[in-house]
Amino acid sequence: MSRPHALISGASIAGPALAFWLSRYGWDTTVVERAPEFRTGGQNIDIRGAAREVLRRAGLEDAVREGTTGELGTRFLGSNGVTVAEFPASKSDTESATAELEILRGDLSRIFVDAGEGHTEYLYGDRITALNDTGTEVIVSFENAADRSFDLVVAADGIGSSTRRLIVEDGVAIRSIGMEMTYLTIPRTDSDTDWWRWYNEPGGLAVTLRPDRHGTTRAVLTSIIYNPSQDTRAGGERRTPQQQKEHLRSQFRDVGWEAPRVLAALDDATDMYFESIGQVRAETWSKGRSVLLGDSAWCASPVSGMGTSLSIVGAYVLAGELASHTDHRDAFAGYERIMRPYVETAQQLPPGVPRVANPRSRIGLEAFRLGLRIAASRPAKKMGAQLFSPPADKIDLPNYGHLERAAR
Ligand SMILES: Cc1cc2nc3c(=O)[nH]c(=O)nc-3n(C[C@H](O)[C@H](O)[C@H](O)COP(=O)(O)OP(=O)(O)OC[C@H]3O[C@@H](n4cnc5c(N)ncnc54)[C@H](O)[C@@H]3O)c2cc1C
Repeated sequence: MSRPHALISGASIAGPALAFWLSRYGWDTTVVERAPEFRTGGQNIDIRGAAREVLRRAGLEDAVREGTTGELGTRFLGSNGVTVAEFPASKSDTESATAELEILRGDLSRIFVDAGEGHTEYLYGDRITALNDTGTEVIVSFENAADRSFDLVVAADGIGSSTRRLIVEDGVAIRSIGMEMTYLTIPRTDSDTDWWRWYNEPGGLAVTLRPDRHGTTRAVLTSIIYNPSQDTRAGGERRTPQQQKEHLRSQFRDVGWEAPRVLAALDDATDMYFESIGQVRAETWSKGRSVLLGDSAWCASPVSGMGTSLSIVGAYVLAGELASHTDHRDAFAGYERIMRPYVETAQQLPPGVPRVANPRSRIGLEAFRLGLRIAASRPAKKMGAQLFSPPADKIDLPNYGHLERAAR
């Protein structure tokens, strides 16, 4: 009998993680990625709770631990750039903004891609343009490659997934959270430290700088969107990368601390990644022989602290259910039954997020800083930890170990 073959769209976290697990269960896998080559961008992402257990089962925990950024913790800065509150990195993965297992998104993606080497075919610079589900196979058309047929198709191509639109036309809502984030890598300077430094300015603006292990610094410019016409996620006008740079220059023109340095680095940034923050709610995650995974299915947003953990766990569960059932419909049903409650819990953001951490007025900002000082003080530390406690363990993780093939 020939090996089943899955086509996965998206080579970030969910896609390569799924390919890794499926190949362990005896599947052939092809991953198609829109970008012309492997994407290195992004900054620290957390791996928490059940996702850590999945890495352990994958035998990849040590590789991830070796790739962590070594961040010491989070420092919130006052208007003069001096620390007003400090939260050291935690040994637990739920007690601090800096989790014990924090790795750059690109480094984690690379670990999954490398771990699947020899088992997975990667097609860069292409994308799916049409799906024809005959009931026994899916005939796939690509923008560049010739048509091919697969047993299953998986959309793991992020919040804006165009493959999702080819699978489930209705019942998908993308809720804007009213915030934009632009990520870029900038040269490291002597003023940089191994702390995550977080600077707010009234008007809902923030600049953060984080260390990495490549001798550079990861910067993020965050802004709350008060004017709905500027909300690209909620239907506002989309911007090209060049327009986004101009937009940031005007938005952050009068912002202090290291903002001028980050703005000056925009032109040379080769990995700028811009995201209008939102959450995906899809009534169903599959249709016929195609299924959604990761941000494409359920994006909880970066402010949930759970985006990558959900993708790692979701890939593990989807692969395990496919290996456990001969009929893909049973597998998709099992996947959804196990993942949906976990996803829904992760999507519940604490009240006031994200505006509470990005105040609009000067008085609001002073109140935020006072709150941080109290939260960082010894007696309140435990309470403060609650602020940083995503529901990473709220899943009864199945164990599919018995399904692994000894020889891949
Ligand atoms: C470059 C980059 C940087 C990021 N940086 C951060 C960060 O710093 N912090 C954070 O919290 N989250 C970041 N994210 C998002 C984070 O990776 C996800 O929220 C989470 O890990 C879930 O991953 P995912 O694999 O489901 O989706 P994503 O990580 O969004 O990956 C989707 C992948 O699909 C590709 N793609 C999109 N459309 C198509 C298409 N039509 N055909 C084929 N491929 C397609 C994209 O290029 C991307 O590689 C980043 C994502 C990317 C792509």
